[in-house]
Amino acid sequence: MTSLNNLTIHELHELLKNNETTSLEITANYLEKIKQKDVLLNSYLYVDYTGATEQAEQTDEYIKKIKNSANSDFPYLTGIPLSIKDIFLMKGKKTTCASKILENFISPYDSTVIKKLKENNFVFLGKANMDEFAMGSSTENSAFKTTKNPWDIKRVPGGSSGGSAASVSADLCAGSFGTDTGGSIRQPAGLCGVVGLKPTYGMVSRYGIVAFSSSLDQAGPIAKDVLDSAILLDAVAGFDGFDQTSRKFKIKKYSDIVKKADKSKIKGLKVGIPKEFLSEGLDDEILSNIQEIQNNLRELGAEIVEISLPDTAYSIAAYYVMATSEASSNLERYDGIRYGLRSAKNSPDNALNSPIGLNSLDDNNMISGGTTANHANLEEIYINSRTAGFGNEVKRRIMLGTFALSAGYYDAYYKKAALIRKLIIKNYKDAFGKVDLIIGPTSPTAAFLIGEKANDPLSMYLSDIYTISVNLAYLPAMSIPSGITSKNNSNGAGLPIGLQIIAPWCSEDKMLETAKIIEDIVDFRKKYQPGATF
Ligand code: GLN
Repeated sequence: MTSLNNLTIHELHELLKNNETTSLEITANYLEKIKQKDVLLNSYLYVDYTGATEQAEQTDEYIKKIKNSANSDFPYLTGIPLSIKDIFLMKGKKTTCASKILENFISPYDSTVIKKLKENNFVFLGKANMDEFAMGSSTENSAFKTTKNPWDIKRVPGGSSGGSAASVSADLCAGSFGTDTGGSIRQPAGLCGVVGLKPTYGMVSRYGIVAFSSSLDQAGPIAKDVLDSAILLDAVAGFDGFDQTSRKFKIKKYSDIVKKADKSKIKGLKVGIPKEFLSEGLDDEILSNIQEIQNNLRELGAEIVEISLPDTAYSIAAYYVMATSEASSNLERYDGIRYGLRSAKNSPDNALNSPIGLNSLDDNNMISGGTTANHANLEEIYINSRTAGFGNEVKRRIMLGTFALSAGYYDAYYKKAALIRKLIIKNYKDAFGKVDLIIGPTSPTAAFLIGEKANDPLSMYLSDIYTISVNLAYLPAMSIPSGITSKNNSNGAGLPIGLQIIAPWCSEDKMLETAKIIEDIVDFRKKYQPGATF
């Protein structure tokens, strides 16, 4: 029954409801495929074979009981196996954030996202690979392994949630959760031909998610289709008192909205295309793909409006000042004292071989054990542990952020970046005064080659040009697959193209409805599949 693997969450739910399969059968199929294929793809950092099997068995019992009760309904995610980006804390399981510094860190509690998924009785398959501390666009910055793109294993899956996107795309799970600080859900979803949704800032709790840049970080789903992305969002959206930036939004049932989506809703819809998104650097075929979608929408009665987001060009610079500043502060906690890796000797080389695990937590969840004997003083522990524990990109960002926040430079960098952020917010506000939604590319090119940008941080940073401003403006946006590159594409043939839909603050309903209608027109999942090469 390998065909179970490529079904969507809503399709699997129907089978579970109608006694045509069990959670155990679904889970066993995924675990078997992971065992066979993930040696090639590296989408998982850790697979919970035993835990997933046990959970599936228990869930089957639970489903049986529910079916015999008066209200025989159970949630969409009950019995459904998911992969989870290794940035979400899950009690008793490792959370490494793909960093040596957290290599043996066992989560002492559940993040709110995981808590809510558990309330839905999901099945946890394992932790998905990512760029270290979510810093990157290719998953090459993972301290442990590089994930491959299921459409072409010579290429990156995007990042930082590359493991999540690759595992969904290769049918190694039914869906996944990632985080998006500057594009890390949308860009990998775009490059892997799946759906990725970054909700409005404040809609999904950040509690228990390892912080990168707290004013930009937002968790969201990566899914096989638009309805699944809404189902996953429904499960985790909502106010949470544990996250100070969580908002009391009027949350809707997004899966119901997607189910009711109808082409007639496009009539009169004003869709903006920012001219700054269609400029230099954009792959020709991605440009023509957007024009095609534009024509499709126009045929259904939409009004296509050229708009301007005039300060787009400054968004990358502003982002890299703000995100690195916040990161330098958030990452101060990894000091070799409280948790994570502590260098054992006064030599960074030795330190790498001697991580201190958290398997010996004391009552306060502090490390017990580990020696400080070989360090001359506290500062040496800090320096050696951080030198050994962090990778190059993380160090680069800590240095950039520390510099930007330092006395005498604050006004020139951080303050200026904050002012640009205000301009970007205003750009979007003006645009949404004229249009209901904005569409554009998710990335300037399809998936690039592994190694192509690894030694050129600036060109890697530029690959996020269309996604970053959305985070700066706190807006919701999603990427859906909208086509495929041709044989002659010089940036790579036969690769998925992602279309980005950006909505006004808290307008996930309109965004998802339109995404579903475009999805039906493109019919991507029926026409194209990855896997020829793996
Ligand atoms: N690629 C961007 C960066 O490297 C965004 C990362 C993210 O969204 N987590 O910062």
